[in-house]
Amino acid sequence: MKLLEGKTAIITGASRGIGRGIATVFAINGANVAFTYSSSAEAAQRLEKELSAEGVKAKGYQSDASDFNQSQALVDAVVADFGTVDILINNAGITKDNLLMRISEEDFDKVIAVNLKSVFNLTKAVQRTMLKQRSGSIINMSSVVGVKGNAGQSNYAASKAGIIGFSKSIALELGSRNIRCNVIAPGFIETEMTAKLDEKTVQGWRDAIPLKRGGSPVDVANACLFLASNLSAYITGQVINVDGGMLT
Ligand code: NAP
Repeated sequence: MKLLEGKTAIITGASRGIGRGIATVFAINGANVAFTYSSSAEAAQRLEKELSAEGVKAKGYQSDASDFNQSQALVDAVVADFGTVDILINNAGITKDNLLMRISEEDFDKVIAVNLKSVFNLTKAVQRTMLKQRSGSIINMSSVVGVKGNAGQSNYAASKAGIIGFSKSIALELGSRNIRCNVIAPGFIETEMTAKLDEKTVQGWRDAIPLKRGGSPVDVANACLFLASNLSAYITGQVINVDGGMLT
C-alpha cells in the first residue's frame, strides 16, 4: 500500500521548483494531485501529464494564492473535480529582496500577500471540507530565513515567520478535529533558479552547510510526504527544518 493511496492533495505553486518536486513524490506515493500555478501554463500541462502517468488523477489550476476569492473558487473546483481534499500544501512563494532603505511599500505588501495571506486564504478555504471529514494535514512552506532572519530579506522573513505563528495557532484550533498543521523550513534548495547563480558563490554556501551540499526539491518533498501521511499522525504544530543542518 502506498503512503498516500486514495488521498487528494492541493499543492500551490507546483509548476516548478520545490512544489513540482512535491507533486511528483506525492503522485509516486499514490496521491491524487490538484496543483496551482501563477502563469506557467505550459509547464503545468507537462506536469499534469507526468503525474497522470503515475496512475493518479492530476490537474493544474491557474489561481493566484494571494487572492481570497480565487482561493475559495479553487477549493470549490477541486472538491467538485476530486470529491475531497485531505492534504493542503501551501508552497507558493516569491522574493523581492532589498535592504530596508530601498524596499518599497509595494514590494513589502506583495511579498506578504503572496507568501503569508495566501496561507490564510487556502487554509480557510479547505477548513469546511476537512472539518466535515474530521481529518486533514496542512503543511506550510516557511524558510530558515523565517526562523533566523536575513539581512536584505525583511519582507520575506516577516512573511515566513508569520507562517509559523499562523500554523501553530491553526494546530491549536483544529487539533480536536484531527486536522494537523505543520511547517517546513527549507534551507538552501537547489532549483532551476539557483542553477543560474554564480557557481563560486553557490559552492561557498554548500561548504557552510554541515551536510556539505544544497538540498533538492525531493529532500523537501520527502519531509512533506512524512507530514502528509499517517506516519506523522501524532505530530502537529511543529516546524521541521530541512536545511542540511544549517541552523544547528
Ligand atoms: P519557485 O521555483 O520560484 O516556484 C514558485 C512557484 O510558485 C511557481 O510554481 C509559481 O508559479 C508559483 N507562484 C508564484 N506566485 C504565485 C501566486 N501568487 N499564486 C500561485 N502560485 C504562485 O520557488 P521555490 O524555490 O520552488 O520555492 C517554493 C517555496 O519554498 C516558496 O514558498 C519559497 O519561499 C520556499 N523556500 C524556497 C527555498 C529555496 O532555496 N528554493 C528555501 C526556503 C524556502 P509560476 O511558475 O506560474 O510563476
